[in-house]
Formats: sequence, C-alpha cells, structure tokens
Amino acid sequence: MRLVFVGPPGAGKGTQAKFICEKFGIPQISTGEMLRAAKTAGKLPTELVEKMGLGGLVPDEVVNGLIAERTTQDDAKNGFLLDGFPRTVPQGEALGGLLKDRGQSLNVVLALDVPGELLIERAVLRRTDKRTGQIYHLKYNPPPQGADLEHRADDQEDVVKKRVDVYEKMTAELLPYYDKLGLLRRVNGVGTVDEVKGRVFAAIGSK
Ligand code: ADP
Ligand code: ADP
Repeated sequence: MRLVFVGPPGAGKGTQAKFICEKFGIPQISTGEMLRAAKTAGKLPTELVEKMGLGGLVPDEVVNGLIAERTTQDDAKNGFLLDGFPRTVPQGEALGGLLKDRGQSLNVVLALDVPGELLIERAVLRRTDKRTGQIYHLKYNPPPQGADLEHRADDQEDVVKKRVDVYEKMTAELLPYYDKLGLLRRVNGVGTVDEVKGRVFAAIGSK
C-alpha cells in the first residue's frame, strides 16, 4: 500500500494515519516530523528553521531528498503512508518519477476535508506525548495524567491560519493534479475520530 495522505493542518491526518499504518503494516513518513527531528538535532540550516517557524514551505529539493532516502529503508518494503508530502506539483512529479524508476506506483491519494473554523480549534488544543508520539486534544481526546506533553511552536492561532492559507494555495494545484491521474479520494473529516476512520477505510477499499 503506497498512499499519500493530504489535508490541512489540524485535520486529523496524524490521528487517522496511525490506524491505516497499523492495518497495513507500513510506516508513516512525515516530512514535517523529519524536519522537526533535524531541527532538534541541530542539523537544519537556520534559514529553514525560520521558514518553518513562520509556516512557510522549505524548498522542494530538501523534502524530495528526504523522501527519496526514507522510502528505501527496510520498513518501507510493503509500502508507506506519506503525510505532508507532496505539497506541490513539482514534489508530486518528483515522487512519481522516483517510484517509476523503482517499478512502483501510488495506490491512492486520500484528501481529508475539514472546514477552517474547526482546524484552528483542533490545532491550537493539540498536544503530543514526547515519549510515545501519541496525539491528544485538550478537549476531544484529553491526555492521561503523567503524559510528557509537547505543544508545537507553530500550533498558535495566527500561525495555524497562515498554514491553512498555504495549504489552500497548495491544494488548488495538487488535488486537481492527482484527480487527473485518477488517484484522488476525498473524505469528510468532520465527526468523531471513529466516524472519520470508517470513511477513511471505505475510501481506500478496506474495512
Ligand atoms: P494533522 O496531523 O492533520 O495536523 P492531528 O491528527 O494531529 O492532525 O489532529 C489535530 C488535533 O485534532 C489533535 O489534537 C487530535 O487529537 C484532534 N483530532 C483528530 N481527529 C479529530 C476528530 N475527528 N474530532 C476531534 N478532534 C480530532
Ligand atoms: P502541518 O501540520 O502544517 O501539515 P507539517 O508537520 O507537515 O505541518 O510540517 C511542518 C513544516 O515543515 C511546514 O510548515 C513546512 O515549513 C515544512 N514542511 C513539511 N513538509 C514539507 C513539504 N513537503 N514541502 C515543504 N515544506 C514542508
């Protein structure tokens, strides 16, 4: 299963991705996570750290390189779920080319649709456990006592708004690109985690 998961920040991609990855035994590959890890390790150039902090995109070559390398690792043998990549048509083309060279292709591009006003609330109240990576929400999925919580620097209302704007501009081209390739499935992301999960599995043709 080779799948691209698309959706605005705070839509619930990380939450749903976990279910898909468990079901298919594939890794979730998130360029945002990889970039944050590089930043924490002090390996990300300052200008890219600044771009990320402002909610802008880092250059295509940077993320294309990360993905080319990561998808050849052992745990990606049975496929992968890409989260946060591709974000631009050139990134989509780079991914297509890379897979083609390996005699592979994408199975599906899943787009999770959630309206703007819900995104702000979902992102601003998001907390992640540093040790386990588990995603919580202060209102909808409260963390247990003793969780070692992290609040992402870019999960502030004004930055989330900027990231949503960037997402909308991006998908204006990326989604039609994948629609033309016959790969796009859209899923309504409004509802409980379980309701959305049901729609997600229906859309990728699995229960
Ligand atoms: P993304 O990866 O798309 O940015 P997350 O999966 O991290 O989104 O979810 C964003 C926040 O919204 C998290 O705090 C998560 O617990 C919460 N969340 C996810 N799905 C739902 C849902 N269906 N209803 C309410 N809150 C949700
Ligand atoms: P979001 O929750 O906004 O979807 P991510 O965790 O996917 O954020 O990414 C965090 C930041 O990392 C982005 O705001 C952007 O600066 C950078 N980034 C991640 N993936 C890409 C990509 N495919 N292309 C360019 N920049 C990216």
